[in-house]
Amino acid sequence: MELQFLGTGAGMPSKERNTSSLALKLYEERGTLWLFDCGEATQHQILHTTIKPRKIEKLFITHLHGDHIFGLPGLLSSRSFLGGEEPAPLTLYGPKGLMKWIQFTLELTKTHLNYPIHFVEIEEGVIFEDEHFIVTAKELEHVIPCFGFRIEQKPLPGELYIDKALELGIPKGPLLGKLKSGEDVELEDGTIVRSKDVTGPPKKGFVVAILGDTIYCKQSVELSRDADIVVHEATFDHATAKLAKDYGHSTNVDAAKVAKEANAKYLILNHISSRFLPRDLENLLKEAKKVFPHVFVAKDFSSYQWKNGQLIDLSAKNL
Ligand SMILES: [Zn+2]
Ligand SMILES: [Zn+2]
Repeated sequence: MELQFLGTGAGMPSKERNTSSLALKLYEERGTLWLFDCGEATQHQILHTTIKPRKIEKLFITHLHGDHIFGLPGLLSSRSFLGGEEPAPLTLYGPKGLMKWIQFTLELTKTHLNYPIHFVEIEEGVIFEDEHFIVTAKELEHVIPCFGFRIEQKPLPGELYIDKALELGIPKGPLLGKLKSGEDVELEDGTIVRSKDVTGPPKKGFVVAILGDTIYCKQSVELSRDADIVVHEATFDHATAKLAKDYGHSTNVDAAKVAKEANAKYLILNHISSRFLPRDLENLLKEAKKVFPHVFVAKDFSSYQWKNGQLIDLSAKNL
């Protein structure tokens, strides 16, 4: 799993930061990626990465502010015009009103898509579940309805003890794969070999909380409970905390408080105001670290890989 930030600014684009969008790359887990928010020019940002829009399986929208959705019609439309194989169907999750806006815009501009969009109007609770993942949404506290998401990977099959399996007479080949994925198998002589007898305990999947715009609130803490990674907005800093409250946003310290109270492992600060220049980032980080130690400040195109329980900052190296 990898997280790549496509836009990390707040409200308006700046030269350093585009408006909100974040890719959750699940290439190993399901061969697709999920996109969270789609600010203006997200498709331009994608052009600077290895991301293929047809690989986007799900698109989650936190709220209907322009800096989170103005890139949607363009991206949806371009996804139709790309060469190669036909794009897969897309599921678009968003607050009430999103479907109406998209349908109206596509109709008005005579945009015909060559793939179906399945709209899901978000309400609090589980919004997606299959055998590998579960996604839960909760409403946060912003100036308009805004959601946060908790993405949980279900436990993974434990390690396969190959020697043990071979000892029990399993031939090399597909039966080993079945045992590894949790299935019991039958040998030619009728013997049943149980998966649990030749595999270790299930491994814990990852948990990522991706939160939309919000003031500090308990819902953020609940969504982030024991998460491996929390992506939280930090539009303001400690000195401008009063403005954060007035405009329905958080400070870097609020975000750190959420990560700490939730007992999370890592925090990535996102949705950074253009008032902060590159030289101010050190201070943003320092203030947050006083409350919660493992913090990063997202930059456009920065990538973070989740590997063996550690979050690795790949920076802009793998564009
Ligand atoms: Zn915003
Ligand atoms: Zn907003």
